[in-house]
Amino acid sequence: MYGLSLAKIAKIVKGVPLGGNQSVEPRGASIDTRKLKQGELFFALKGEKVDGHNFLAQAREQGAAGAVVNYRPRDFNDPEFPLIQVENTVKALQQLAVHVRKAFDGPVVGVTGSTGKTTTKDMVASVLAQKGEVLKTAGNYNNELGLPLTILSLEPSHWAMVIEMGMRGLGEIDFLCCISEPTHGIITNIGHTHQELLGTQEKIAQAKAELISHIPAQGGMMLNIDDKEILKPWLTNVRSPLLWYGLDPACHIWGDSMENLGKDGIKFTIHTQEGPGVDVTLPVPGKHNVLNSLAAAGIARQLGLSWQEIKEGLENTRLSHMRLEFINIPEKGIQVINDAYNANPSSMAAALEVLKSAAGNGRAIAVLGDMYELGDYAEEGHLRVGHRANELDVAYLITVGSLGSMIARGAQEAGMNPDKIKTCQNNAEALSYLRDILKTGDVVLIKGSRAVRMEEIVAGILEGQ
Ligand code: ATP
Ligand code: MG
Repeated sequence: MYGLSLAKIAKIVKGVPLGGNQSVEPRGASIDTRKLKQGELFFALKGEKVDGHNFLAQAREQGAAGAVVNYRPRDFNDPEFPLIQVENTVKALQQLAVHVRKAFDGPVVGVTGSTGKTTTKDMVASVLAQKGEVLKTAGNYNNELGLPLTILSLEPSHWAMVIEMGMRGLGEIDFLCCISEPTHGIITNIGHTHQELLGTQEKIAQAKAELISHIPAQGGMMLNIDDKEILKPWLTNVRSPLLWYGLDPACHIWGDSMENLGKDGIKFTIHTQEGPGVDVTLPVPGKHNVLNSLAAAGIARQLGLSWQEIKEGLENTRLSHMRLEFINIPEKGIQVINDAYNANPSSMAAALEVLKSAAGNGRAIAVLGDMYELGDYAEEGHLRVGHRANELDVAYLITVGSLGSMIARGAQEAGMNPDKIKTCQNNAEALSYLRDILKTGDVVLIKGSRAVRMEEIVAGILEGQ
C-alpha cells in the first residue's frame, strides 16, 4: 500500500474520513487484532459470531495506523485514532486491493487447482525469490478476504506476486482474478474436492478454468497434462499461451529420472522442448511434488529465470506445516509422516507412495481418516484409496471415522489380509491401537481431512515417548 495516505485510501474506497491524522500511510492491512502488526490498517468486518467494531480499542493499542469501519461504535470515542467510514468494509478491502494491484507492474502468478495450491505457490515463490523479493500468499489465505489482504502487504521492494486462489463454487476464481489480475497462472490439477458443492468433476474443471480466461496474451498458463481432456471445453478462445507440464516428453516441460530419497526428498530432471533443463534434488518427497515443481519451473522460465536459479529455488523450498512433515522419534526408532493438514483421494494416493518409499524394508503403517467434500464421489474415492493401500502392500491400514471405514472396505475388497486392517471410531482409538503395534523401524503416515484433526494422533505418539 506504499505511498497511500489514509486520506487517499478514503477516496479510493469512497469512504468518509473521521478524525485523526489522515496523512498517515499504513503498511499492510489486517482484519484480526490477534495478528495485527504495528502500522497496519485495520478493517472492522462483521462476521457471524464476531464484530470487528468491538476490537477498535485493541487495534489502536497494537499500533494500527487507522481503521476502516461501517460506523463509529458508541463506546469508542478516540478523536486521535483515524477512521474511514464506508458502507461495506469487505468491499472497501477488495477495492483497495484492486487499486494497489493496478499500480503494480510486475508479474502476478495466480495458483489454483484441487490439490497442491499452497505447495506450488511456495515453490513458485521460492524460485522467483532467486531474482528478488517476492510477495506470496501467507499460509492458506486464498479467499475473498485473504487474497486482498495479501495484495495489501505489497512493498516497493517486491518484484513479483504469487497468489493462491481457492474456490468453493463457480464464479469465485473469476472474482479473485478481477481483484488480482494475474499475468500468469497455474492449475495444479482437477480432482474431486468440493464435488459436494459443484456436483461433477466437469463443473470443478469449469470453475478452475475461469483463471485461464484472465491471463493476457503476453502472460502464460501452466496446465497439468493429466487434465487435458477435462479442461478441453475451456481452452478455446483464450488469449494466453497454454503450456503443458507432466511426466510425458510430449509436454512443454516435463520431468523424468525420478529417484526417491525418502524423507530427504526426490531427485529428478527437468526438460523442455527448447533443450536440456536441469537436475534437481527437491527437499520434499513425492512424485506429486515433482509435478508441482514443473509448474513452478515453467512459470520461472517464462519470466526469464535461468536453470541455475530454478534449481536453487526448488532446492530451497520449505513446505508449510503438516504437509508431509517427517518427524523422527529416535528413542523408538520410528518415523511419523504428519500429513494431517488435509486429504482428498489424490493426495492420499500421493502420500501412500511417499510412505511406502520412506519405509524401505521397515513396516509402512497408514493411518487414514475421513475425506470430506467429495459429494457423489465419496464412496468411490474412499474405496480407491483402500485399493491403493493394498497395491502398495502397507503393513497395516488403520482407518478412522465412518467415511474412513470405506477405505478399509476398499482394501479388503482388493484382497488385503483383514488382520492387517483396523477400523477405529475416532483418533483416540486409533492412537491406542497404534501404541500397541508400533515397533522399531516403522514408518507411520497420518492423514485425513482438516476437520478430523488427525494431528491429535501425531501429538499422542510424541507424548507417549
Ligand atoms: P487447500 O485447498 O487446503 O488450500 P492446497 O490445494 O493448498 O489445499 P496443499 O496444502 O499444497 O494443497 O497440499 C495439501 C495436501 O496435498 C498435502 O497433503 C500434500 O502432500 C498433497 N499434495 C500436494 N501437491 C499435490 C499434487 N500435485 N497432487 C496430489 N497431492 C498433492
Ligand atoms: Mg492451500
